[in-house]
Amino acid sequence: MSLFPQSLAEALPGQVRLDEPIGSHCTYRVGGRAVALVSVTSVHDLDVVRSVTPAHVPFLPLGAGSNLLVSDSGFDGVVLRLEQDFASVEVHRPTQSGERVRVVLGGAAVLPRIARQLVAAGITGFEWAVGVPGTVGGAIRMNAGGHGSDMAASVRSISVYDMRTGGPEQWSAEACGFGYRSSAVSADHLVLFAELELGVGDAERGKQELTDIVTWRRANQPGGQNAGSVFANPPDDSAGRLIDAAGLKGYRIGSAEVSEKHANFIQADPDGSADDVAALIRHVQKTIYDRFGIELHVENRLIGFPPTGEGAE
Ligand SMILES: Cc1cc2nc3c(=O)[nH]c(=O)nc-3n(C[C@H](O)[C@H](O)[C@H](O)COP(=O)(O)OP(=O)(O)OC[C@H]3O[C@@H](n4cnc5c(N)ncnc54)[C@H](O)[C@@H]3O)c2cc1C
Repeated sequence: MSLFPQSLAEALPGQVRLDEPIGSHCTYRVGGRAVALVSVTSVHDLDVVRSVTPAHVPFLPLGAGSNLLVSDSGFDGVVLRLEQDFASVEVHRPTQSGERVRVVLGGAAVLPRIARQLVAAGITGFEWAVGVPGTVGGAIRMNAGGHGSDMAASVRSISVYDMRTGGPEQWSAEACGFGYRSSAVSADHLVLFAELELGVGDAERGKQELTDIVTWRRANQPGGQNAGSVFANPPDDSAGRLIDAAGLKGYRIGSAEVSEKHANFIQADPDGSADDVAALIRHVQKTIYDRFGIELHVENRLIGFPPTGEGAE
């Protein structure tokens, strides 16, 4: 029997890429490599990964990488990405008028696509997600939200695989422990499915809401290499407003720059450095603390950086 990580590649032939660049799977498009990237197509695959991976090796569930910054030195562990059947979207129509609609989403299903599909089917309550370029798994972990709603508003239960103890097991909405951009889901938990409860709505009105949201995002948020809002908003204020007020729009460290369009976004240059992005995050945090006495909390998940830094996994 080969030693890890070759043993992992042999246990799941064709599904494991060793020494895989992970930064390129993230929307920042910078950062280093992981020991292995596993394409997970079944619960059995996860049982295999668990049985082959030594206990000290960390795991990182990867969705669309739209909230992740992986350091230039990479992640010394196994990245797990759900694929195939885990991208499913199932709608269970109510049997009587007035009842709510039950929707079961795979952890790898992508939010903007789900939002459009549900609106077209006359289902309301998930329109807000059209501008969040993540997967269901990442959105549950982060309790993603916007436009006055979030995942917590509609999640009834989730199915979770624990990489340390196995599974899957069902968690109620309460067990998810949702808070502002946070949940009880940890790096050892892989969200396989989520059950949502939504309403019956008017497709035309829903389509208009999607158009309004997309128009607002295009006008107010930059495209390119970023991972959305870097910092969570402090209570009763906006991180973007504070960063703008500190004169940091356009501020640059190496290959990373505070967006001119939205001060809470950091843009990475093509072929840029994740460590420059991290240095800029720390500079912004320190500047805001020195100027306003407010501690900004990092919403982006920082992978492979020293564990002492806030936002680090
Ligand atoms: C242009 C842009 C706009 C954005 N706008 C918003 C917004 O309006 N609101 C908002 O909340 N966010 C926003 N984001 C951030 C991001 O899209 C969300 O946080 C999203 O939920 C992350 O999903 P993901 O699949 O990309 O997760 P990733 O970035 O891949 O991972 C994020 C976290 O979730 C974990 N994770 C991923 N998949 C799973 C899984 N299956 N099971 C368990 N854990 C998992 C990861 O380990 C990591 O800790 C934006 C990002 C961009 C680039």
